[in-house]
Amino acid sequence: MTRALCAFLLLNVFPASVFGQEYQRATTGGEDAHYLFWRDRLISFVIDSAGCPDTDIGHARSAVVNAFNVWESPPCTDLFFSFQGYADGAEPNQLSGEADGNNLIVWLDEWPPEWGADQVANTRIIWNERTGEILDVDICLNAQDYYWTASDRTVNDIQDVMVHEIGHLLGFAHTTDPEASMYDGYTEGEIIKRDLSGTDIRGVCEVYPAGMPTPGVTGLSMYDIELSTGGCQCRQGAGAPEGWMLLVLLAAFGVVLRRGSRKRPRVSGR
Ligand SMILES: [Zn+2]
Repeated sequence: MTRALCAFLLLNVFPASVFGQEYQRATTGGEDAHYLFWRDRLISFVIDSAGCPDTDIGHARSAVVNAFNVWESPPCTDLFFSFQGYADGAEPNQLSGEADGNNLIVWLDEWPPEWGADQVANTRIIWNERTGEILDVDICLNAQDYYWTASDRTVNDIQDVMVHEIGHLLGFAHTTDPEASMYDGYTEGEIIKRDLSGTDIRGVCEVYPAGMPTPGVTGLSMYDIELSTGGCQCRQGAGAPEGWMLLVLLAAFGVVLRRGSRKRPRVSGR
C-alpha cells in the first residue's frame, strides 16, 4: 500500500511555474525567499567508507552512482555528478553543523534518537541565505532501523530512495504527481522512483537547462555568504505530518514498513 507520508513546509515551497508543471522548488523561506539551486553544474559527492551494512559496498556504491546518473541523464540538462571516492570518518553536516564542501552519503548505524526511528533518511542542505545557492548537502540513511538493498526489491531500495533524496539535494521539493520520483508517498520495496517521471524531467531541465542559467537566481556569488541550513526528513509512518518537526525546508519522505522488516535492536556485547 502506498500512502502519502510527507509533509512540506508550505511557506518554503513554490510552484515552479504557472503553466501547470507539477514539480516544486524549495526556497530559503522568509519574505525575500530565493529558490535553492546549485550555481555550478558539476557536483561532486563522496560515500562514507563504511558503506552500507546490509549489502556489499560495491553494490551500494553502484546504486548510489546510478541514482545520480538518473538525474544527469536527460539531454536537456548539463548537470554532471562526479563520484570522488570514499570518505573515512567524515561527519555529516547534520551532526557537525558545518559545511565541509563534501556532499556525503552515509549510512548511520546509530541513528540520532531525536530524529526518530521512523525516519528512513535525512538530507540536510546548507545554503547561502542571500542567494539560495546550495553549498553543501549530506544525505544520511538510517541503517539502525531499516534494511537496505541494491537488488532484491523486498526492503528499502537504495537507488529508489537516493533518486528522491538527490532531488532534494538539487533543490526540489515534493510533488503531488504520484508517478514522480519527488512524490512524497513511499512503499517499502518500491522501485518506481529509480527513474525520473516526466514531471521530474521537466523540473531538472527547467531549473538546470543545458547551456543556460538557472531561472530565478540573483547575481550574488557564493562568497557573499550568510549560511543557513535545512533538511529533508524522511520518515516512516505515517500519515501524521502535523506531528513532524519540520525545522527547515525540505520535506519528509516516509516509509510504510512491514513489521518484520524492521531491524531488531542491537544486542550489546555481540
Ligand atoms: Zn522527500
